[in-house]
Amino acid sequence: MQKHEIIEINKDRNRGAAYPLAESQRARILMQDQDIYNGTMPLENVRKVADADFPTRWGHFRILGFEGTVMGPEADAKTESAVALVMGDIVSQPPIVRIHSQCLTGDVFHSLRCDCRQQLELALEKISEEGSGVLLYEQQEGRGIGLMAKLKAYELQDQGLDTVEANIELGFKADCREFELPAAVLKLMGVGAVRLITNNPEKVAALEAAGISVVERLPADVEPEESFRDYLRVKREKMGHLSPFVDSV
Ligand SMILES: [Zn+2]
Repeated sequence: MQKHEIIEINKDRNRGAAYPLAESQRARILMQDQDIYNGTMPLENVRKVADADFPTRWGHFRILGFEGTVMGPEADAKTESAVALVMGDIVSQPPIVRIHSQCLTGDVFHSLRCDCRQQLELALEKISEEGSGVLLYEQQEGRGIGLMAKLKAYELQDQGLDTVEANIELGFKADCREFELPAAVLKLMGVGAVRLITNNPEKVAALEAAGISVVERLPADVEPEESFRDYLRVKREKMGHLSPFVDSV
């Protein structure tokens, strides 16, 4: 999107006028993708599709693949997938669990626009120290909005919008994730109670609502880099995340 287009849209919004046609068309296209994640469609037939040996820098895991079918309107079924890294005994007592949403920019490119990779590494370290636990990796880029939309949101953020405002500007809710699949995967692995690594109270509530007991919340605190201090502040102020390092900003 060009800079002048964004300014035009913002001016229109301030005047309360309708969006330009091109913008409304674009929003509609993006909304179609969002339907996958809006939580109104039932998730069915969650199944394990693979289970393999997986040595890593953090220790020895097994890597498991899971798929579930999201039932859409007019039998428009879509497949959602998740990966589980599993270490040690996870069934005789509530294991440490981290639910990580895919962040290509952070996980692969070590982006400093967000704290995703640091949180991922923190979780793998904690599981490794404990000798048991589960890392659930969901393919939901950019809180469910998709990779291209996330890059567009970055562009909007470069113009001065924060992460929540940028998602809303693109026609999405602030957070499009649902936690049905992770809950179903945990149940399939025989895990009914967890010690969840998260700063997000909504994840605790969502898992509890899906029938997984959260017996303890373990903080996912990372030292903020200057480049994502504002991102952490917005997550705390607008999305209810708990983060002790933001107060010092
Ligand atoms: Zn990220």
